[in-house]
Amino acid sequence: MPTSDTERDALVDAVRAIAVRLEAEKSHLTDLDSAIGDADHGANMDRGFQAVLEQLERKDDAEAADIVKTVGTTLISEVGGAAGPLYGGSFMYASEELQDGITAESTVAFAEAYLEKVEDRGGATVGNKTMVDALTPAVQTYKKSIEQDDLSPLTALAKAVDACRRGVEFTVPLKATKGRASYLGWRSVGHQDPGATSTLFMLEEILQTAEDYTAGETEQDATSPTVPDADAEEE
Ligand code: ADP
Ligand code: MG
Repeated sequence: MPTSDTERDALVDAVRAIAVRLEAEKSHLTDLDSAIGDADHGANMDRGFQAVLEQLERKDDAEAADIVKTVGTTLISEVGGAAGPLYGGSFMYASEELQDGITAESTVAFAEAYLEKVEDRGGATVGNKTMVDALTPAVQTYKKSIEQDDLSPLTALAKAVDACRRGVEFTVPLKATKGRASYLGWRSVGHQDPGATSTLFMLEEILQTAEDYTAGETEQDATSPTVPDADAEEE
């Protein structure tokens, strides 16, 4: 199914919103990474998404899957360390799930594929104090909200963001056992994981964009031609 102009606009706006947010949170993410890592997570994510924006300028008629794939390949080539391959590889791999368009079903498949790739690449599971701690509850909540509770994708996404936020908070008391933070051992306890935090920021921006677009559609419906045109009546 070809990507509609609205889907494409929403997707590109979501990516833009993520880039703006990560730029604004650069020093916050750097502070988190300086406590338990090497103080580069803010710069890594900001650099990566600024490069994504440049790439997307050349893709104004691309399909949804292609746009998300570009996000992935750009992050892989621009962001080093752990985050580049984890974020980039997952966007790239999961983009396949959007080949037939953006639907409730395809976004669940996307979310599952994304998490699967992070787990495959990084070897982390819940409790290791990584982005997996934020992603897992978000993905599980999104899937359950859609498949079992029959909620709209927007409501499901809002619930997923709440679950993700709790996942980020859950990282604070944990001792890191994966990634650079694990070198600190017990000294990592009491600090919030930077990658879990950037995952939350990204999901918050996707939700905000989805809300903006849904509000726009509702307004359009409200002003759609239910009121007869005065000129037409006179004829
Ligand atoms: P680096 O650790 O190479 O400096 P970043 O600072 O950009 O890379 O990213 C650090 C974040 O990457 C961590 O906060 C954590 O969430 C995530 N991370 C690190 N290792 C793993 C892993 N093996 N699996 C999942 N996430 C990981
Ligand atoms: Mg780092």
